[in-house]
Amino acid sequence: MCIFCSIIENKIPSKRVYEDENVLAILDISQVTYGHTLVMPKKHVRNIIEADSETVSQVMEAVRVLSRQIVENTKAAGCNVLSNCGGIAGQSVDHLHFHIIPRYDENDSITIAFNESKEQDLDEVLKTVRGE
Ligand code: 5GP
Ligand code: ZN
Repeated sequence: MCIFCSIIENKIPSKRVYEDENVLAILDISQVTYGHTLVMPKKHVRNIIEADSETVSQVMEAVRVLSRQIVENTKAAGCNVLSNCGGIAGQSVDHLHFHIIPRYDENDSITIAFNESKEQDLDEVLKTVRGE
């Protein structure tokens, strides 16, 4: 059984931020920043690429509500919402989850950088991503 399914079934303890019939939100054990929270469906799906629409809708609604609640209550200046999808993207637990990472200032303990990359022909890229 995956570690998040074990948490959902209370076989592993967690700090529960929010719970309903379909969704669980817990404090991330690593607390990259103060208040770092994980929001996941109770149904086991690997990631957003493999998830069904209903499951994603339920999780995203909780992400929306909790992002506001957590930023307000921690007095953060903003937050990053992210879901790592696949090992190459840093997914270490194969159960869909969204990180809500409150941000306090530019020196807090997370860096997300969009580095300079190779110039692309955007028309060619567009055809590829549209599957044409
Ligand atoms: P990923 O790397 O898959 O995007 O994120 C997995 C997250 O789960 C990591 O940030 C990690 O700290 C967190 N995590 C892993 N195991 C546990 C656990 O047993 N309890 C809690 N609360 N968080 C966990
Ligand atoms: Zn699972």
